[in-house]
Amino acid sequence: MKLKVLTEGDERLRVICKPVTKITPAIKKLIADMIETMYYKKGVGLAAPQVGSDLRIIVFDPRTTKRRKPQVLINPELSEMRGEIRGDEGCLSCPGLWGEVVRSAHVLAKGFNEAGEPVEIESDGGVLSVVLQHETDHLDGILFLDRLDPAQQLRVMKEREEL
Ligand SMILES: [Zn+2]
Repeated sequence: MKLKVLTEGDERLRVICKPVTKITPAIKKLIADMIETMYYKKGVGLAAPQVGSDLRIIVFDPRTTKRRKPQVLINPELSEMRGEIRGDEGCLSCPGLWGEVVRSAHVLAKGFNEAGEPVEIESDGGVLSVVLQHETDHLDGILFLDRLDPAQQLRVMKEREEL
């Protein structure tokens, strides 16, 4: 089932999400719906608060291959962040807005899959590193717009008025 993606200004995008303590059928359904919604909206990632849930769940598919390969991380934690990459980011919750964000190139993401098994994903740059950081930010109520430098924030403010 496709879910409604909340847009910037909705308070639910600003909450600190709660850890998942038990993987229930409802949570599995939420994950399946998030994946369906991500593909429908042509996003490379989606975080639970974007669809109105306050749980620490992200789904992503950085599209490094033509075949769909959806991945989920429950209660993701990022570590070993080092290096620097810059790239234009957008967000399904901030339609029409883009900006350059500085992220760590290397990131180790730890969390759980739908079966409750521990998962580790390591990335050394590229879309996967950006997606992991962008989506995990959502779980702490942070949007990529918050990470733009002041000049870019000013530009986005103007663009937003024109939208
Ligand atoms: Zn986003």
